Amino acid sequence: MRILVAGGAGYIGSHTCVALAERGHQAVIVDNHCNSAPTVLDRIARLTGGAPEAHRVDLRDAAALDRVFADGGFDAVIHFAALKSVGESCVRPLDYFENNLGGTVGLLQSMQRHGVDRLVFSSSATVYGEPEALPLDESARLSVTNPYGRTKLIAEQIIADACAADVRLCAISLRYFNPVGAHPSGLIGEAPSGVPNNLMPYICQVAVGQRARLQVFGGDWPTIDGTGVRDYIHVVDLARAHVHAIEALAGEGGSAPAAGHPLHGHTAINLGVGRGISVLELVRAFEAASGRSIPYDIVARRPGDVAEVYADPRLAEALLGWRAALDVDAMCRDAWRWQSMNPGGYAG
Ligand code: NAD
Ligand code: UDP
Repeated sequence: MRILVAGGAGYIGSHTCVALAERGHQAVIVDNHCNSAPTVLDRIARLTGGAPEAHRVDLRDAAALDRVFADGGFDAVIHFAALKSVGESCVRPLDYFENNLGGTVGLLQSMQRHGVDRLVFSSSATVYGEPEALPLDESARLSVTNPYGRTKLIAEQIIADACAADVRLCAISLRYFNPVGAHPSGLIGEAPSGVPNNLMPYICQVAVGQRARLQVFGGDWPTIDGTGVRDYIHVVDLARAHVHAIEALAGEGGSAPAAGHPLHGHTAINLGVGRGISVLELVRAFEAASGRSIPYDIVARRPGDVAEVYADPRLAEALLGWRAALDVDAMCRDAWRWQSMNPGGYAG
């Protein structure tokens, strides 16, 4: 299949382009590079044996996007393109609404104009807000605590409304838990700009000597060791799930799932391992995988954090035939390999 991958130069998108190529699919990347380096395209080429077709286009530029679709012959779209920092979204909420929602609407309109009727969308476990019960399954109450999360929830609703209005359109919103790790080659990985917001890239930068100590946000949570618990998932497992989703939407005859099929219309599916890991458990696993020590201080809780979040991932297995295969040791080993081979990210 030929797949338009919006935001395909980013962290999860680049791994998905490699996973698509491994299954014989052709990825065409559309990215404005607001949060990615064009050099990632060379790395993808080294992993797949050929440079991916790529267009520097902003999803909100309807004319430019239409030109890509007009030449495309796409079977489906995967939509990763978004701004993703929770903290920044609280400071610049309108930029987040404009980019994440404007981009999603623009993409759906171009798909409609060109008769492309299958979409896989990057959503997030952030749409569950503070969990009422664990593990979280897809029927859990939805609530958001920040503008970034609101863009994900509203984008899911926009996509569901578009599916309801057009019986041919089928979409899967994949609700990622905590993506970490990197491709085992060490050629592609997560390259945050500035101070990392997320735990794993911060640990990696401490390990490589770029930051002195990790700050552990809270040692008094009601969890096994007092630190926050999350469901970390290897980015290679996550990438593979997108290929399963695209192939599930292709169905038997190559057309989008018809009425009565479980993937007809809009479907939200969790992508997690189904197991919670605490901050200190992750630190210890990383130390074992890297042979480096990670000095840390336990500091105050981070505003807006919750104690414990982990997925019930069974729907992904039932509907997509996918389950996570890689454990926390692989996550740490591959994150460390990427970080030590590329201490400055794609810049070197
Ligand atoms: P990323 O920033 O590495 O990748 C996003 C890509 O989209 C970047 O290359 C960026 O340049 C591009 N982009 C952004 N706005 C664009 C626009 N208007 N037009 C064209 N390109 C645009 O992020 P990621 O970690 O790979 O995340 C991918 C998706 O998954 C995002 O939608 C994110 O919200 C979602 N998500 C990520 C996580 C995570 O922890 N990484 C967790 C849950 C959900
Ligand atoms: N965390 C931490 N120090 C950091 C970054 C994160 O202790 O520098 C903790 C955070 O409080 C949470 C866990 O690590 O319990 C995962 O945080 P992350 O920001 O990676 O993911 P999210 O909170 O969005 O699930």
